[in-house]
Amino acid sequence: MSDVLTSTVSFALSQEQEQIRQLARDFAESEIRPHVAYYDETQEFPHEIFRKLGEIGFLGILIPPEYGGAGLGAIECAIIVEEIARVCPAVALGVAAHNGLCTYHIYRFGSDELRSKYVVPLARGETLGAWGLTEPGSGSDAGAMRTVAIRQGDHYIIRGSKNFITHGNVGSIAVVMALTDPDKGKRGISAFVVDKTMPGFYASKKENKVGMRCSDTASLAFDDVRVPASNRLGDEGEGFQQALAILDGGRITIAALSVGLAQGAFEAAMRYAQERVQFGKPIVEHQGVAMKLARMNMEIEAARLLTYRAAWLRDQGKPFRREASQAKLFASEVAVRTAEDAVQIHGGYGYIKEYPVEKYWRDSKLLTIGEGTSEIQRMVIARSLLGKV
Ligand SMILES: Cc1cc2nc3c(=O)[nH]c(=O)nc-3n(C[C@H](O)[C@H](O)[C@H](O)COP(=O)(O)OP(=O)(O)OC[C@H]3O[C@@H](n4cnc5c(N)ncnc54)[C@H](O)[C@@H]3O)c2cc1C
Repeated sequence: MSDVLTSTVSFALSQEQEQIRQLARDFAESEIRPHVAYYDETQEFPHEIFRKLGEIGFLGILIPPEYGGAGLGAIECAIIVEEIARVCPAVALGVAAHNGLCTYHIYRFGSDELRSKYVVPLARGETLGAWGLTEPGSGSDAGAMRTVAIRQGDHYIIRGSKNFITHGNVGSIAVVMALTDPDKGKRGISAFVVDKTMPGFYASKKENKVGMRCSDTASLAFDDVRVPASNRLGDEGEGFQQALAILDGGRITIAALSVGLAQGAFEAAMRYAQERVQFGKPIVEHQGVAMKLARMNMEIEAARLLTYRAAWLRDQGKPFRREASQAKLFASEVAVRTAEDAVQIHGGYGYIKEYPVEKYWRDSKLLTIGEGTSEIQRMVIARSLLGKV
């Protein structure tokens, strides 16, 4: 009887997955941790770290080896992003966006020609990619975009702009959603690969952010950019559905990023609570502090389980939209709460840059906003409950 039960559900990671976690943890500790404060302070993009991430296959996680990738699944991707976020959420954001949005979008919906031309260098980490959906006037309501792609013979002319785009500056290519048939609304949106070598395509405003400061966030401008029709991903009118499918997967990685951030903040709070003495004993021995730590730990575990379940469903080829939104919503809110509690446990020192928790706190807020706000996740879950997928 117990054999039957244990074979139906397993919470154990495979040996290979544990090795990947160790590799990611060692990399984050040795190659990222020493530079976290510098990159946060300067807002410089950590090119050297990304070069090394490319070398170990972390920029082509979901891409098969024949296209230059590591050929791993969503669970492994979640583990890698989680471990990097535990040390630096801003670097993890770049890893998540590069892998899950740009590279995977081209791999999943692109022709063989586009895969060979763009996915291979992206997956090897030779180029960085961006993914442009958001515009100044259309964020949550992405279907209200204004950027157009007008067909002219065997080319499209793209005109418009995108904002808040991760790797807008440092990315040499971007997947861009644009209206090919404005009268059809969302059903008139198509997706394109646009290359910085194409005249008229450039990054404009670089954002000065509260958190995730070394992650490059910029606007993209399209001044009548001539894009070959062969750079269209899939058919005309499929762009919005493609973007939703890509966001489903992206939300699992943002959930994983949230789990890692919360774990990093929690570990710092645990350490500090055992060292800091007030009223004659370490503060962890004051019940108010211990209770906080217990809740933080429980919520992180719950967020991790939701995240791995969504990733597992994706790897099994089963529907996972609702589960990805549940994981993203819960984990991102856990990250914000955990980071805030970690600051609180540090008292005044939590508000000082010499301690790591203020950065987790600043970085955490993006997670309830990017790739669909918490309100949008609730809408996705409710729509799914009502059968309106
Ligand atoms: C650092 C950073 C990186 C980003 N990277 C990318 C990227 O790489 N690519 C990309 O395309 N975008 C990116 N974004 C954009 C991000 O996805 C959007 O900011 C997000 O989707 C929210 O859109 P918005 O900012 O326009 O807010 P709005 O849509 O204007 O929302 C404002 C508020 O209204 C609420 N709201 C809106 N509609 C509803 C509703 N129907 N019901 C209830 N509440 C509602 C929202 O939840 C929110 O609280 C990034 C943003 C940031 C800050």
